[in-house]
Amino acid sequence: MNMIIMGPPGAGKGTAAESIRAAYGLAHISTGDLLRAAVKAGTELGLKASVYMDAGKLVPDDVVIGLVEKRLGEADAANGFMLDGFPRTIPQAKALSEMLDRIGRKLDVVINLKVDDDVIIRRIAGRLICPSCGTIYNAYMNMPADGLCKCGGRPARRKDDEPEAVKTRLVAYKAQSEPLIGWYRERGLLAEVESSGTPVEVFAKISDVLSKHSGAGKW
Ligand code: AMP
Repeated sequence: MNMIIMGPPGAGKGTAAESIRAAYGLAHISTGDLLRAAVKAGTELGLKASVYMDAGKLVPDDVVIGLVEKRLGEADAANGFMLDGFPRTIPQAKALSEMLDRIGRKLDVVINLKVDDDVIIRRIAGRLICPSCGTIYNAYMNMPADGLCKCGGRPARRKDDEPEAVKTRLVAYKAQSEPLIGWYRERGLLAEVESSGTPVEVFAKISDVLSKHSGAGKW
């Protein structure tokens, strides 16, 4: 099973993706995580990308496409993958389609998480991420009383979750990524899921879609 999970910033993609990965054993390929790892490692690519990321702007297509192609070639992606945060633009979707043709793979389903702007803003305002292990918390909903992650790290707000960067990301999403919904609908791959409930409720709806697409829920 090869899939994409998409939706605006704050739609709960990261949380849903982790549940899907754990339940279905797909390689979780998050371009945001790949880019943040490159930034943390201080590679040349990371330094280049951080300028765009800190401003809430999209990193140039060629950089991201190269990262995804390399990651798709890794062993754990052979039995199925879930792309998260990619493609973000129509040129990236075209590049993905060409890349998959080249390696003899195909997409089975694209899940689009739908959520209202006011819910997005509320979720992002409280979102904190542990810099050590990447666990996502919400300051208003599931924060440990001592403010520390289960791994001992201190969860903090991502630079691109600052209010100004969030506004820029929402504008960029609407302009560049919403056309992808139409693109995948036309290709018969789109499944829309309302992402307004708790993580458990959202995952139940996603599992429902995946089981319909996979027949028995296995692939
Ligand atoms: P995310 O964790 O998916 O919200 O991504 C964080 C940031 O990484 C984005 O705001 C972009 O700056 C960059 N990024 C992630 N994926 C892509 C992509 N497919 N194309 C361009 N930039 C990306």
